[in-house]
Amino acid sequence: MTETLLLLESLYLLDGERDATWDGIRELDAQVKSTGEQIAATQAELGELAERTAPMVAEAASVQVEIEKLAERRSRLRGQLDRGEVPDYVAGEHQLATYDQQAEVAELRWMELEEGREQLDRKAMAVRERLKTLQRRLVEQQRVVEQEGGRLRAELDRLNKERLTRKAAVPEGELREYETLRRQHRDAMTRLQGGACLACRMVHPPQFVLEVKRGSRLLRCRSCTRYLLGTVEPEDEQPVSSPE
Ligand SMILES: [Zn+2]
Repeated sequence: MTETLLLLESLYLLDGERDATWDGIRELDAQVKSTGEQIAATQAELGELAERTAPMVAEAASVQVEIEKLAERRSRLRGQLDRGEVPDYVAGEHQLATYDQQAEVAELRWMELEEGREQLDRKAMAVRERLKTLQRRLVEQQRVVEQEGGRLRAELDRLNKERLTRKAAVPEGELREYETLRRQHRDAMTRLQGGACLACRMVHPPQFVLEVKRGSRLLRCRSCTRYLLGTVEPEDEQPVSSPE
């Protein structure tokens, strides 16, 4: 390989390491962010459940008051009837039956509300459990970000310094071209396999493939313009170990 190609390759390998390190840092940050968002959504869910529960509790309380009032009225009327203080006994009995009916309706409503509230309470309990799990996960992820993230950033610093050294060794023109290419493709360098560019699949003429294989000068794919680091054997032509 030409000296320049070797220098570019060494820069390219370093850039690959930098990318991977950056990916690692971003991945850690993304995990924390995602858990934070899940926590916010879970808290909103709890808030919504509380909002749905509150009117049920309020209504159940007022229905309870109504039930107590009906019971009071009923027992007062019952006493008056028993003591013969009611002039129209039949109308009194009829009123008692009405109180009973009203109490029954109110009790059914109260039970319905209680059931609904219990259901929401159970849901809220499950959501709170989920929230606790998420909060524990966040603490763990933040711990990892502190340790692993710190290590990755130190590694990135080291790679950035090393990059300055490697960059300085590459001729200016090629460096500029390489940097331009790297902005377009993370994989700015590739190889040919069976004559085809591994990145864009363009098939090159045999003479060109030979030149790439020889590596006597800097060559780029004629389609995607990536630098060509050489050739790799086509998969079906690779020696296959026999079962014996
Ligand atoms: Zn290509």
